[in-house]
Amino acid sequence: MTIRSFELLQPRSLPEAVEMLREHGDDARPLGGGTTLVILMKQRAVHYPFLVDLQTIPGLNGIGQESDGLRIGALASHRMVELSPVVRRLLPVVAEAFGHIGNVRVRETASVGGNLAHADYRLDPPPPLLVLGADIGAVGPNGSRRISLKNFFRGMYETALEPSEILVDVKIPAPPADSKAVYLRYSTLSANDWPCLGVAALLTKENGRCKELRLALGGVAPTPLLIDGLEFTRDQSLDDGVVDKVLQKVEEQISPSSDLRGSEWYKRRMARLFVQKAIAQLNGDQG
Ligand SMILES: Cc1cc2nc3c(=O)[nH]c(=O)nc-3n(C[C@H](O)[C@H](O)[C@H](O)COP(=O)(O)OP(=O)(O)OC[C@H]3O[C@@H](n4cnc5c(N)ncnc54)[C@H](O)[C@@H]3O)c2cc1C
Repeated sequence: MTIRSFELLQPRSLPEAVEMLREHGDDARPLGGGTTLVILMKQRAVHYPFLVDLQTIPGLNGIGQESDGLRIGALASHRMVELSPVVRRLLPVVAEAFGHIGNVRVRETASVGGNLAHADYRLDPPPPLLVLGADIGAVGPNGSRRISLKNFFRGMYETALEPSEILVDVKIPAPPADSKAVYLRYSTLSANDWPCLGVAALLTKENGRCKELRLALGGVAPTPLLIDGLEFTRDQSLDDGVVDKVLQKVEEQISPSSDLRGSEWYKRRMARLFVQKAIAQLNGDQG
């Protein structure tokens, strides 16, 4: 199938891009790497007469350490994050999650902003970004704002971005001292396929006991999900009884649907197993 013709608008600044999106309304969309949007347009699943190419705006692809954490520009490619020395040193779990995506061709082209704005329920980066407490910077007709990633995903392929708003960066605070994080993804078709599910966990310990446990899952609800109600793990040793209660919280909050990569029944069982594995790895057990 051939792509229907469209006009590629090439802004030189963010205000210009916002104005282009505002002017064309529902007829325009921001273009990141194009790895999803162009395929959908070729398949004629969607059509936009105007694409606003964000690659022509200087300065949107930086990755850098800040006083309170790490900032990743929306146009940084997945491969840039995967290979970035500063990301690998400060937040290896983030580099690892981006390194799992698709194949090198996709990772060289796809952007961080495009990944998050696409809001697929199975995305790899959101679970680790959620346990790390990341937030999103957005610029639109009403100025700029920050949105906690926890409140960013509104539904399958739906985000908190307003029409004409552009995702400009992701900020990830420095993780708590004495914390460790892990991201485990499970694919059922092939190793570089979309995951059936992904589990991220962040554990902070004090005197051998849990100070804080955070868990987030992808692929098992309409949006990536940060698990609520884990405060009871504070000052506990993560023995079988406590882990059982954690698993109960996970089971209550996930709502997987059956798809090509697993049935609802299967995903519920795999979610249990991978949460157990993640906690065991961080707790120094076998996992
Ligand atoms: C073969 C293949 C395998 C993949 N496997 C995985 C996988 O295993 N795990 C995973 O997590 N992802 C996977 N992906 C998704 C991949 O990460 C994306 O294609 C990516 O999510 C889209 O990034 P992009 O920059 O190409 O976005 P685009 O295709 O340019 O845009 C995607 C959507 O986001 C919007 N958008 C883009 N940038 C912005 C912005 N800065 N602000 C606001 N809106 C914006 C666009 O308007 C569009 O609606 C796979 C993709 C492919 C093609």
